[in-house]
Amino acid sequence: MSELIVAKFGGTSVADFQAMSRCADIVLADNRIRVVVVSASAGVTNQLVAISQHTELTERFSAYTEIERITMAVLQALSHPEAVAAHVEVLLSELRQLIEQAGTVFSVQQKDEILSFGERLSSVLFTQVLAERDAAVACFDSRLVLRTDSHFGKAEPQVDAIRALCQQQIKPLLGSERLVMQGFIGADAQGQTTTLGRGGSDYSAALLGEALDASVVQIWTDVVGIFTTDPRLTEQARCIREISFDEAAEMATFGAKVLHPATLLPAVRQNIRVFVGSSREPEAGGTWIAREVTERPAYRAIALRKSQTLITVKSPAMLHAAGFLTRVFDVLSRHHISVDLVTTSEISVALTLDEAPGSAFDSLTETAIEELRLLGEVKVEHGLSLVAVIGNHLHSSRGITGELFQALEGVNMRMICHGASKHNLCFLVQDADATPVVKQLHQSLFTA
Ligand code: ADP
Ligand code: ASP
Ligand code: MG
Repeated sequence: MSELIVAKFGGTSVADFQAMSRCADIVLADNRIRVVVVSASAGVTNQLVAISQHTELTERFSAYTEIERITMAVLQALSHPEAVAAHVEVLLSELRQLIEQAGTVFSVQQKDEILSFGERLSSVLFTQVLAERDAAVACFDSRLVLRTDSHFGKAEPQVDAIRALCQQQIKPLLGSERLVMQGFIGADAQGQTTTLGRGGSDYSAALLGEALDASVVQIWTDVVGIFTTDPRLTEQARCIREISFDEAAEMATFGAKVLHPATLLPAVRQNIRVFVGSSREPEAGGTWIAREVTERPAYRAIALRKSQTLITVKSPAMLHAAGFLTRVFDVLSRHHISVDLVTTSEISVALTLDEAPGSAFDSLTETAIEELRLLGEVKVEHGLSLVAVIGNHLHSSRGITGELFQALEGVNMRMICHGASKHNLCFLVQDADATPVVKQLHQSLFTA
């Protein structure tokens, strides 16, 4: 087998039988696609999250019922449901047992176990959709090869172990059959189920692509590629045909949901080209993400991340004092708080955290704030949005920043970060202003 492609299908792409059939068309049209990574069907992970958070059995079971409905609808649409009905029932009954038996509150480890059922169900169903199209195909449990640490909820993949396990267990199978695998989930060295964080199936596909020396990783989703900004924010967003790893990674980091932020790390390490396209319209083309690109425009895209927290620590002791920042970051590091933006003045430092579940914000406990208070006056502000302009040479090009600030005339900015990266310029605005600001900026930078 010469060339290998890993294809990943997101939640809406495997939402129901019809959607799965469209994905099967894509897989079967290209014999190089040997590994297929699937997300949970749309909505299922949210229901599983609800199960893991609710304490009342009735609430847990109402979420379960929705998962069962989505699953059964696909099962019943198959030509041979009996081929997988028993497997599906085993999974559903395992899930029911977990729901019933657990104590009032689930541990982080139990939560990951619960969250894993979405991908475990969709992968069994999608394998059967392919099998009914005469494909030589098997469902393979990603947890056997996608080794992670034990940081439940946002586990860190162990790249060397993943490579060794994939080469041993997966590579030999690919000559004779395709494998359908679960995105998002892995297992630690003790075999306990872990997850890579919400939206992590993109990352799974890239990690598997890296471990199997794939030439391309395909991310099939509900948009025809990566756009100049989220197409849900403005009709003027347009598809980018080619983008560099650096720019796309900045986009993902700063909120372009189309890619999980870590997706491009394995692709960069192994120089694997990544394709993003729509499973509804595969003929519409898509976006290629690669190391080398033909054009590097000053402005490539605008990303938006809502719900940011801004922390300001102000202390006259910072004036001419060495080590103040070290002490601030020492507190943050001990509390596992990762910071996005930082600016400093003579006597203060301002930094931002993401409030999304599972992010740095969860670690911002009262204890952490109290420890910061020992260093100076602490102010915590919520309800802010981070807008990132992504492009090339943004740190140095004469005229570019002037043009950008002109485009932002009248915008009330809370904080600006510029200069650290040649690929982005970020600023904070109030959540309520975020969408109009992105529209205004997009209009000036991309359509003027
Ligand atoms: P999947 O379930 O296939 O992983 P996601 O919902 O995670 O799909 O990601 C696709 C969504 O990402 C799109 O529907 C779109 O609203 C959003 N998105 C945000 N920024 C961008 C962007 N710059 N280009 C394309 N899509 C974007
Ligand atoms: N199913 C998981 C989620 O909804 C992972 C993914 O879809 O990428 O977050
Ligand atoms: Mg996604």
